[in-house]
Amino acid sequence: MVASIMPHRDAVGLPDGLLLIDGAWRESTSGETWTHRHPATGEEVGSFPVSTVEDVDRAVRAARAAFDEGPWPRSRAKERITVLRRTAELIRQHADELLTLQALDNSVPVSFNTTYAMSIDAVADAFDYHAGWIDKLGGETLWPYQGGDHMVFTLREPIGVVAAVVPWNAPLLLSAQKLAPALAVGCTVVLKPSEYATFTVLKLARLLEAAGLPPGVLNIVTGPGDPTGDALINHPGVDKITFTGSRETGRRVMAAATSTFKRVSLELGGKSPALVFADADVYSAAAITMGTVTLGLSGQACVAQTRAIVHRDIYDQFVAIASGMSEIVGYGDPFDPLVTAAPLINGRQVERVLGFVSKGHEEGARLVCGGERLGGEFAAGNFVSPAVFADVKNDMTIARQEIFGPVLCVVPFTDEDEGVRLANDTEYGLGATVWTTDVKRAMRVTRQLRAGTVGVNGYQLEIHAPFGGFGQSGLGREGGRSSIEAYTELKTVLLPTTEELM
Ligand code: NAD
Repeated sequence: MVASIMPHRDAVGLPDGLLLIDGAWRESTSGETWTHRHPATGEEVGSFPVSTVEDVDRAVRAARAAFDEGPWPRSRAKERITVLRRTAELIRQHADELLTLQALDNSVPVSFNTTYAMSIDAVADAFDYHAGWIDKLGGETLWPYQGGDHMVFTLREPIGVVAAVVPWNAPLLLSAQKLAPALAVGCTVVLKPSEYATFTVLKLARLLEAAGLPPGVLNIVTGPGDPTGDALINHPGVDKITFTGSRETGRRVMAAATSTFKRVSLELGGKSPALVFADADVYSAAAITMGTVTLGLSGQACVAQTRAIVHRDIYDQFVAIASGMSEIVGYGDPFDPLVTAAPLINGRQVERVLGFVSKGHEEGARLVCGGERLGGEFAAGNFVSPAVFADVKNDMTIARQEIFGPVLCVVPFTDEDEGVRLANDTEYGLGATVWTTDVKRAMRVTRQLRAGTVGVNGYQLEIHAPFGGFGQSGLGREGGRSSIEAYTELKTVLLPTTEELM
């Protein structure tokens, strides 16, 4: 059996499962709760309130009042910088506690903290980085275009009340990438964590509170999509929705935004290609690509490179190396430093992944390894062994749908044009990698790939670079200047400087 997670829970102590509304931690109005079961052991970790429509309404009203009348949007740059920098400091000080809570929520191994994208450092950096923008926010001055003697300039102002909805796979970083820029520019926020990763986010909220955020600026409503998320995205008091999650929920978000023309940012799923040419370092290409669908989140990552499009000359070698990698993945207790991969988040996801494995068989792909639910000592958890499918055609279901599990599809290609065409033959467009030792080809192909981020001979997160998707992978970008723009409106000011009318 995988070791019980209870001693870790008892040692760290869960943050109280309560809602944060207008600076006070409260129960939900219904008293209804959600119980979180651990993905690796099935044990009950704890429970938290299911926020009702009424709770969400109170939270949005609190954020509205804090925006319309409160000090935060009107504060001096230095005050906001201090709060964000203090938050980053507190996150670093509480790193162990946050990592433990994250492992209690989603069972991501604590050993994964050495990967920057999943590290506490990246979360703290997101607050530090956006703090750096606060005293540089500004508009521009334009020369008058036609008659009149006047000044024309723009102001960049906070967009208002932000509804932030985040998934469970990287609850800290994904919350930070929304909260840090929104708070930096002076917005107020109602955040809904995933029901599968709530405790981590409750702790983050406590740290923001301790850093000196005024009441009502950050509100947290816990609970599932129905009723909590649905009430939040449909609330008329919200000016902007920032959502990270599945394409299906993204559609609902977009539809909900139309009634009051809420601004929307969407970070959705992907079916990202790794395009591997014959001149590539095939070992690195296979090992790193397979790593994105096995290690850490076990393929439950939006940018997992789940479609390897591999030149026929190196195809067999690639498949052999990738499937060999499946042998070295360590499952189990997320607190064991030798454990390198998470289970699937819940039973529904296990069924979904196994369903795709059957579909792959049915449609004629060759299963080289894995794709089975683990029994024995792993039986109480949601473990599925890493699968590699060879001889995959790009029109098969497993090559088109986001599986969100440890399944790699390997599609063969013959020449560059065919490789690029296959890579782009997807409804998604989040990430892509090009593997080649020819720099001209790397640049040529990068220009042709329809993806928000393209990695050459590897892929890593840069929190200050724009991140987002082409096509059905989303709308807008997070990170860098794009984040600041995503949480601000531009106002044009016309100021006559003489008596002459414009
Ligand atoms: P999900 O869409 O099921 O849930 C995401 C969030 O939306 C959760 O908080 C959930 O409670 C909420 N939600 C669900 N139904 C809702 C509704 N009707 N109204 C409002 N809110 C609702 O996604 P998930 O399973 O938590 O996460 C996995 C998905 O997220 C994958 O598709 C993955 O690719 C995507 N993802 C994208 C990125 C990115 O940056 N592009 C990052 C991580 C995950």
